Amino acid sequence: MPLMPNREEILELLRQTGAWRQGHFILPSGLHTDHFFQLPRAMRYYDNVRRLGVALSRLLRDVPRVTQSLPHCTVVAPASGGIPVAFAVRDALNAEQVVWAERQAGRLYFRPFTAVQKGDQCILVDDLILTGTTLERLIRLVWDHGGEILVVAVLVDSGIRVFRPGPIPVVRLVEFQTRAYPDAARCDLCRAGVPAVAVEF
Ligand SMILES: [Zn+2]
Repeated sequence: MPLMPNREEILELLRQTGAWRQGHFILPSGLHTDHFFQLPRAMRYYDNVRRLGVALSRLLRDVPRVTQSLPHCTVVAPASGGIPVAFAVRDALNAEQVVWAERQAGRLYFRPFTAVQKGDQCILVDDLILTGTTLERLIRLVWDHGGEILVVAVLVDSGIRVFRPGPIPVVRLVEFQTRAYPDAARCDLCRAGVPAVAVEF
């Protein structure tokens, strides 16, 4: 695969590695969906990390505030799926540094010696937007530390929920239109008799 894959090549990469599956899934939250994403399955292989990171970085170079701020940018990831994305993007953009949050009991925080500093120009990245809750928490955390957020960038947006964090632009390498149902009683796939697979993250 070329270093600059097109959409079809990216989908094929996700499918082949099992990072993206189509069917009928029951998520740990109880949600029923027709797509399931497990991006770490693709990111186990460094070549994929590089390819996806380069492709995402090309989209980031189209964001004026990013090009104006480079190379003095901090790439920030929530734990833990976003960390390989952050290093790949840092490498492709030649940004200054990578910072990642830790997670404890659902809460995100920075360790004191690697926290975002006041005035840092931040590119927030993650592998996947499922509901957007993690990135919303990361946005608040970066703002609490006085960082400026230039953009949010993800490899995959599931499309389960509209993620629009106010004035912050969002860049997505691939966007899906996942159908999600709150439970079996309201699931079209259950009604159609499609066998369901219970999945874990
Ligand atoms: Zn169902």
